[in-house]
Amino acid sequence: MPDEPIRVLAGDCTVTYTDGDGRREERGHVATVVKPDNTVFVHDADGYQPVEWLTRADAVSCSRAEPETVLAQDGDRHLRVTVHAAHGFERFPASPAGAPVGPCPDCDGTLVRADGAIACLDCESRYGLPADAAVREESCDCGLPLVAVERGDAFEVCVDRTCEPLDEAVKARFDREWNCPECGGDLRILRRTGLIAGCADYPDCTASFAVPRGVADGTCDCGLPAFQVDDGRRCLDPTCGEAS
Ligand SMILES: [Zn+2]
Ligand SMILES: [Zn+2]
Ligand SMILES: [Zn+2]
Ligand SMILES: [Zn+2]
Repeated sequence: MPDEPIRVLAGDCTVTYTDGDGRREERGHVATVVKPDNTVFVHDADGYQPVEWLTRADAVSCSRAEPETVLAQDGDRHLRVTVHAAHGFERFPASPAGAPVGPCPDCDGTLVRADGAIACLDCESRYGLPADAAVREESCDCGLPLVAVERGDAFEVCVDRTCEPLDEAVKARFDREWNCPECGGDLRILRRTGLIAGCADYPDCTASFAVPRGVADGTCDCGLPAFQVDDGRRCLDPTCGEAS
């Protein structure tokens, strides 16, 4: 379950905003929304634009003592909402919203793709995604979605790296497939900061290249593999200008 709630305060309120340049005050029947990241919106009857707002404020406090208030402060900007007559002051579960990708195998919840991950709306299940991953309709045997990722070849693996590791699939396909341009040795597929093709003679030879997000497509004039990537064709070595 999401632990940080969204808070909503609705009522006849006075809203004051002050900053280095001055002070504004409005009064009306408005709804104040306080997000878990301390973004505060005050909405009235019209349009999508809030009457007042602070995005990711340094501090927000909500008081349920009379008069109920919401105070938000961000640098020298202060937003105060004071209630004269409350219509409601509630806390609701909140989560990132994203495209639904199927049911959660661990509970009855729905998995959504949001914030670079596939996460369940109702339990703790969360799986990080490579930025370029495309989520497939088909599921893994474990019930989670399959994702398609290009790392030298098009791979389709479980979103759960512990179920079906992408690194192992790339390794099985390309480990020792290519030769080191420095010493002629084998390039191993390894995970360092990302997935790399690095010389087997490390540390005597330090040649290493990130495995491109694309599909291997023949050989560059320099002898290294070339890849078809989003913006054209390139060499495994990003500093090599030969591939075209
Ligand atoms: Zn779940
Ligand atoms: Zn799986
Ligand atoms: Zn080498
Ligand atoms: Zn090249």
